[in-house]
Amino acid sequence: MTNRFQDKVAIVTGGGSGIGLEAATQFVGEGGSVVIVGRDADKLAAAAEAIDPSGEKVAVLSGDVSQIETADRAVALATERFGGVDVLFNNAGIFRPTPFLEHTEADFDRNLSTILKGKFFMAQAAARAMQNRGGGAIVQTGSMWAERAVAATPSSAYSAANAGVHAMVRNLAVELAASKIRVNAVAPAVVETPVYGTFMSAEQVKEVLPTFNDFHPLGRNGQPRDVVGALLFLASDDAPWITGAVLPVDGGVMASR
Ligand code: NAD
Repeated sequence: MTNRFQDKVAIVTGGGSGIGLEAATQFVGEGGSVVIVGRDADKLAAAAEAIDPSGEKVAVLSGDVSQIETADRAVALATERFGGVDVLFNNAGIFRPTPFLEHTEADFDRNLSTILKGKFFMAQAAARAMQNRGGGAIVQTGSMWAERAVAATPSSAYSAANAGVHAMVRNLAVELAASKIRVNAVAPAVVETPVYGTFMSAEQVKEVLPTFNDFHPLGRNGQPRDVVGALLFLASDDAPWITGAVLPVDGGVMASR
């Protein structure tokens, strides 16, 4: 195990489950401290216990990322508990395949405000804090669906929001370069996380997810650790000259479509 994040501080949105929980766990495993942000206080408490039972390297903030004040509270907590912010894993998101003609204004707004507005203002608050440290890294979880449409999983509002997340990467990379803040994203295909249980029963998840294995040229769905290797690389000093990139982490889907 390397120690790439010794004494570094990260905010991880959506850190209570799936990709965010794995990112927070590995970041602490490599010497850092984390503030995990999510909506469900009980889920966050259980995640914090799993990440660091001593509680020394993890703090939790329950809040909705679509509310701008959540970003300010996350930065304030990271500063108070750990002295500042070096890394933002801008990861919280939602996914519920919905045919275009069935989208309501309410679920359009939910997608845009959670996925895009949430990441936008979290990045703004974190970038201000990173300027005080002389630099930092923002790594966002975008989506393969922002680049390719998949008939089996209609996702127009989700994809539009994530296309905004990918556009943010390029704009922020250029604007924040002078502050030595790098900004990148990963674009995953199907990753087996609790998100699928938010719109399917446990039996459906068991039945349906394996049917997506062959969708990926590498022959299998992703696991959180498949994505987190890339997230941590992009956040680390191993990627000092990478900014403005949206990296497919998708078992080959983008290459094949
Ligand atoms: P997940 O559901 O396990 O994690 C998402 C987390 O975000 C949850 O803990 C949830 O509580 C939190 N969250 C949702 N809305 C929030 C809000 N308004 N405020 C605060 N927290 C909120 O799912 P995951 O697959 O780990 O998702 C992580 C990211 O990966 C998401 O942005 C998702 O769009 C993206 N992604 C996932 C897949 C996949 O197949 N799992 C594919 C492409 C992209």
